[in-house]
Amino acid sequence: MVKFRLMQKGICERCGEYRYINKHHIYPQEFFSRKNNKTTITLCLLCHAEIHELLPKEKQSKEFYKDFTEKFISGLLGVLLLMGILTLFLI
Ligand SMILES: [Zn+2]
Ligand SMILES: [Zn+2]
Repeated sequence: MVKFRLMQKGICERCGEYRYINKHHIYPQEFFSRKNNKTTITLCLLCHAEIHELLPKEKQSKEFYKDFTEKFISGLLGVLLLMGILTLFLI
């Protein structure tokens, strides 16, 4: 459910548009405890939905999430995903 009362407008760190935004936790809260998990980025609702669709369902290393997020923001994720998939098959 979308919580409308929490919505605010701002600049998305990924697409740079002025839209409704909220915080995305770089290290997913379902895998990493809420304590010491304050590393967030600001994403618009569209980019936020997109990053969650792209994130792997299984827990990854912290380095993975950091790298993943940087690539997502800079628009290199397509390349990263392709390489990631290839690496998975090669291992
Ligand atoms: Zn965006
Ligand atoms: Zn999120």
